[in-house]
Amino acid sequence: LGAFFQPIQQLVQLYNTYQQGQSSIVKLRELLSTRAEVEEAPGAVDLPKVEGEIVFEDVTFGYVPDRPVISEVSLDIRAGETVAFVGPTGAGKSTLAKLVTRFYDPTSGRILIDGRDLRDVRIESLRRQIGVVPQEPFLFAGPLRDNIRFAVPDASDGRVREALRVVGLVDVVERLPDGLDTVVQERGQSLSSGERQLVALARAFLAQPRVLVLDEATSNLDLQSETKIEQALDVLLEGRTAILIAHRLSTAMKADRIVVVDEGRIVEVGAHDQLLAADGKYTQMYAVWTNQAAEAH
Ligand code: ATP
Repeated sequence: LGAFFQPIQQLVQLYNTYQQGQSSIVKLRELLSTRAEVEEAPGAVDLPKVEGEIVFEDVTFGYVPDRPVISEVSLDIRAGETVAFVGPTGAGKSTLAKLVTRFYDPTSGRILIDGRDLRDVRIESLRRQIGVVPQEPFLFAGPLRDNIRFAVPDASDGRVREALRVVGLVDVVERLPDGLDTVVQERGQSLSSGERQLVALARAFLAQPRVLVLDEATSNLDLQSETKIEQALDVLLEGRTAILIAHRLSTAMKADRIVVVDEGRIVEVGAHDQLLAADGKYTQMYAVWTNQAAEAH
């Protein structure tokens, strides 16, 4: 499911409707910090700067009562570790990521960041420390510069260019007649899916979050964007906790550990080689991926 951030896209539409200069960005930010699905606990405290350990403790969750899509998931993601969630479509990978960013709360069980239950911390202080790169990133009608420094509105052009360099777009942007002032069209439709994800990666790099959640684009990316995303990830994953929802072998292989999700449960966890040796579900996926790669050439 591509709609990792569908609610935000709706907000962005709202934003585009009411857009009135720079102050709208402030309004959008306010909207983003208020969400209907989860309630802030009365005694919620600001989450201090995190190391980035994320623990799922026996987590079960369903969008509707009695229909769990996540069942009894336990997983300890170490601070600084990169894990890749892989598995068939509808397995629950995006849902796990949405639980980490607290778009929903578990029906039972807990999710802890640096030992604190997510429900006990202020949502805004949590989200500020988690960079999310959705499958279909939201871009608003406005200059490319503002789209990239969305989370860091006062970032200098130098820092914006540095972020663009990391994702391999600096030359592309420099060749545009309006450079960083180039106006991105509403919802970024003037950019390809790969370019939108690269812009979102640049945005995440600029924000330097301790935790990164990336929902890899599934649509056919052009080869150039794919290569750029791969190279950007090498830089972006460095020194932070990362959860990659991986649809490509090349992305899964960047992870320290691969977590195979099937029907809402974790069925295998391990490094690529370990999982291949186990000859289970991951091995089957690997066979499909390598066949696809062979057919593409
Ligand atoms: P994909 O690889 O296709 O992105 P996924 O592994 O990320 O799939 P999820 O998007 O987490 O899977 O979906 C898990 C299950 O939850 C699916 O059965 C899906 O139909 C259901 N689901 C996802 N989002 C919602 C929602 N907002 N309301 C109700 N059900 C949902």
